[in-house]
Amino acid sequence: MTKLASFPNMVEVVICSVCGSRQIKGRWQLPDSSSVEELAYQAAEEALCLHEDLSEPHIEVDLRKIGATRYQADIDIQGNFRGQGVSEHCEIPIRIKMVACERCSRMAGKYFESTVQLRGNAVRSMTQREIEECKKIAQDMADSGYRGGDYLSFIQEIKEVKGGLDIILGSTQLGRRMARAFVERYGGKLLETAKLVGKKDSRDLYRSTLLVRLPRLRRGDIVSYRGAHYFVTGFDGKTTIITSLREGRRCSMSEESSETVGVLGNKNDAKAAMVISEDDDVLEIMDPETFRAALAARPRDLAVKPGEEVSVVRTADGFIVL
Ligand SMILES: [Zn+2]
Repeated sequence: MTKLASFPNMVEVVICSVCGSRQIKGRWQLPDSSSVEELAYQAAEEALCLHEDLSEPHIEVDLRKIGATRYQADIDIQGNFRGQGVSEHCEIPIRIKMVACERCSRMAGKYFESTVQLRGNAVRSMTQREIEECKKIAQDMADSGYRGGDYLSFIQEIKEVKGGLDIILGSTQLGRRMARAFVERYGGKLLETAKLVGKKDSRDLYRSTLLVRLPRLRRGDIVSYRGAHYFVTGFDGKTTIITSLREGRRCSMSEESSETVGVLGNKNDAKAAMVISEDDDVLEIMDPETFRAALAARPRDLAVKPGEEVSVVRTADGFIVL
């Protein structure tokens, strides 16, 4: 009699005991929220190969646990076979095999290929805000690289060190992408060095260090340049992109000017201040820290009434209204 379904004698479900990834056809799949039972169930269904003449198949799978790592799938198949209603029962034994996936074993073995070193400069160290941001960017990039198929895209360790941050990574490719992303976001200079550490399968094995030295200026810094106030909006190679506070005019500033221009404050430190009274050129505001009255130059185009709030940055030259 024709069999409606064929299946292997035993189905093996290979799961990483560390991260929960599942190996399918030799490739590790990202873990999802499936339980071991759900994976066993899925594997039984995948292992089942239905006869091509079976139409309108209806399959019911019942999973039974028969040991610590063993399940049995009882499967009822119903359908229409060459014009006749048919049904069949089959049983598939399933074995759960727990191993460490390649990524997890590399991580456990302290494997790494590159280190991204983020450092401040002679004038300033990295701020805590920058450190936290960089940690988050690093984690996001490692995760997306892994989802994109680079199984060495992982962070071995993140260390806060004097003057900055060391990010130790499973892959050089990830290190290079990450270092470039940091330079794009924060500006600065990138220096890559490599060291021969041994051989693997007769190929030279290198470890690379990617040093990112952050520039003096930070995104959001308010600078006084050619008689006007600007804030730093980005970096392009060695030049700093600045935007005028009042007109929103964008221009670029040379490397030399970026090293010497006066920094008044940073937009990220802005606070809300209540307007007490107003004039054509001046706003009287309440100092958000001391609650005393203070004066600030009024931006020409700013429509604001007493009792409303404005965003201000405290500088050595008094308040700047954003
Ligand atoms: Zn794993």
